[in-house]
Amino acid sequence: MSTEDEEDKTETACRICGYDVGEPVFNEYGVPQYVICPCCYNESGIGDDNVSQVRELRGYWVATGAPWHEPKLRPANWDLLEQLANIPPQWC
Ligand SMILES: [Zn+2]
Repeated sequence: MSTEDEEDKTETACRICGYDVGEPVFNEYGVPQYVICPCCYNESGIGDDNVSQVRELRGYWVATGAPWHEPKLRPANWDLLEQLANIPPQWC
């Protein structure tokens, strides 16, 4: 038996926009927690379970000017490209 089989799949960054929500959007088993992203307004588990759809949602969000769903949470020095770099590689 190896503990390496028990990989922690927790994700706290939004797959669409890379914003770190600060709580698991997918838990340690990779199960979506249906957390609404305050940045791009995506809900984890809805439309973000395959990479082509994730890219499509991200492309649409960026194309519309990367609007914040909750603008008051937007950091003053917010950097879109820096945030996009948080996206797990398998969802880029
Ligand atoms: Zn997001």
